[in-house]
Amino acid sequence: MFAGPFGVGLFKKAAESGLVTLNIRNIRDYTHDKHHTVDDAPYGGGAGMVMKPQPIFEAVEALKAELAAQNINEAIPVILLSPRGRKFCQQMAVELSNNAHLILICGEYEGVDERVSEHLVTDEISIGDYVLTGGELAAMVVVNAVSRLVPGFLGSAESLISESHTGGLLEYPQYTRPPVFREWAVPDVLLSGNHEQVNKWRRQQAVLHTLQRRPDLLVNADVDIKEK
Ligand code: SAM
Repeated sequence: MFAGPFGVGLFKKAAESGLVTLNIRNIRDYTHDKHHTVDDAPYGGGAGMVMKPQPIFEAVEALKAELAAQNINEAIPVILLSPRGRKFCQQMAVELSNNAHLILICGEYEGVDERVSEHLVTDEISIGDYVLTGGELAAMVVVNAVSRLVPGFLGSAESLISESHTGGLLEYPQYTRPPVFREWAVPDVLLSGNHEQVNKWRRQQAVLHTLQRRPDLLVNADVDIKEK
């Protein structure tokens, strides 16, 4: 599943230059039975299967041992992707991007044995209030959002300054050529060449768009008294 999204565009470039490395492990490789069993029925009954703790613990321990062999001994966040986790946001992506390494665990079936949450992971992250069949897509979302914050990943670090969710606001509207498309004109101020006026307009639009689309964000947004 990971080959597609990470085999194209900026991520491919970052991987080729060694800026970001994705090290994917199959939990089945850490089982000890001939069927490579990773799941079992839930104690107490109920629908579906639960992922066994042993292969997950051993996979994470093996990864840590490999890193230790390379003299990488820092505390590495071990994150379980889970609909029960903290809801992922840009601020969390920024925090995670300060780590040189992250270990992400993708659940399947009905989820994972609770002992993984209790004794192995340092954080649980949800990418939204809905349920996916597995943690892979959620892990890809986290890896993508975190990787683009790594210095050098984006062509221009400026892209990160004004974009949505940086500073708590949504981004201002963007336009490109032509100046008039199907009788819809680009706002005059953007063609004025007056950078001060352009910046003022963009700021106003960012506040306005946030108010109209995501008023909940304004509670914690970086806005002054006049904007409020
Ligand atoms: N029975 C679980 C529950 O009700 O919370 C849902 C399990 S879900 C079908 C299987 C796996 O998909 C989870 O263990 C998790 O790794 C992943 N997953 C599903 N929804 C997710 C979400 N919103 N965010 C992150 N991971 C998710």
